[in-house]
Amino acid sequence: MPLDEKISCEVIESRRARIARIRISREGALSVVVPAGFRKERVLSLLETKKEWICRNLARIRAGTPRDKAMASCRPDVVNLEAFGETWDVFYDSGATPRDRLIENEKSHGLVLAGIGEGSDPGDLLRKWLVKRSRLFLEPELDRLSASHAMPYKRLCMRLQRTRWGSCSARGNISLNAKLAFLSPSLVDYVVCHELCHTIHMNHSRSFWDLMERKLPGSLVLKNALRKAGSRVPAWVERGRNGMRNSPSSEALTINLR
Ligand SMILES: [Zn+2]
Repeated sequence: MPLDEKISCEVIESRRARIARIRISREGALSVVVPAGFRKERVLSLLETKKEWICRNLARIRAGTPRDKAMASCRPDVVNLEAFGETWDVFYDSGATPRDRLIENEKSHGLVLAGIGEGSDPGDLLRKWLVKRSRLFLEPELDRLSASHAMPYKRLCMRLQRTRWGSCSARGNISLNAKLAFLSPSLVDYVVCHELCHTIHMNHSRSFWDLMERKLPGSLVLKNALRKAGSRVPAWVERGRNGMRNSPSSEALTINLR
């Protein structure tokens, strides 16, 4: 991008801001957050001094790194299930079939989406497959931890939920989110262990966290890491177009200015 390109910039006055901040959103929108009473003329000179940083990052966002593109794509070429240590190649076969379907080749770790032409959304087929695949790995994992910690549960329900990684009902039924497949194994253990602890304490009381710490020492680090883990879930997992739009813009770029 040429350095002399005109770029629009939103100036946001914030009572809470103590210093000026330049931000670039994931979509490439530029804004400056300034403390109340900040002189508008100073914004221009600030932008001027950070011109190169702005241009470099805007250009990078517009070009899109391969990982960004893969994460944002609704037609993925590859599905990386980090929790289970497996990577699946996705192929699209637009030939006519009586109905759209997904063919899984366990040996070669290939998924063929048949009947899915250019421009059609394979999301429903992939999401259904993801839920099935996740149960295959997460159910034995839940059973293993349940047995080793002596915390029995009743039934497992696998689903795709927007905001919760898991839950546990008063009857001891545990529900796990299939999106866990995209997290690291240690974060999966944290979520599974957390829900199992709810079979004993149905709340987040002091006793609950004490139990959690006994079952999984040092779990506070994982608890914090889980807060940012949503960005590891690719866009196609969310229902409807542009799933990324609803995820927190934690990857927005910010520089602080003094
Ligand atoms: Zn909880």
